[in-house]
Amino acid sequence: MHEFSIIENILTIVEEISEKEGLTSVSKVTLLIGKMRQIVPDTMSFAFEAAAKGTIADSAVLEMEFVPIKIHCNECGNEFIVKNHTYVCEQCGSTDLSVLEGQELIIKNIEGER
Ligand SMILES: [Zn+2]
Repeated sequence: MHEFSIIENILTIVEEISEKEGLTSVSKVTLLIGKMRQIVPDTMSFAFEAAAKGTIADSAVLEMEFVPIKIHCNECGNEFIVKNHTYVCEQCGSTDLSVLEGQELIIKNIEGER
C-alpha cells in the first residue's frame, strides 16, 4: 500500500503550493503517473480522500493521468510501448533497454479558490 505514503507527500506539496499561490481551498488535483509506478487508482482515490480530511484539499477531486511505459532499445534503437510489463525489445528480442517515459509521479495541475 505505498499509495498512502505517496498521497502524504503529494498533500504536503499541494499545501506548499496553495500557500505560495494564496489559495483558500483546493478543488482539483491532477497527477501525472507513469505506469511503471504500478499505482492502483482506487487505492489512490481512497488514500487521498482519507488523508485530505482537514487539509486545504478536504473537498478536492483527485484526477490521475497515466503515462505509458516507453522504452528505447540500446541494441537496435527501436522505441516501443511496454505491454503487460514485458521488458523485451519487440524488434530484436534484446533486454538491454532504457526507460524513456513511464516513471513519472508529478503534480500536473492544482485548481482552487483564491
Ligand atoms: Zn531492439
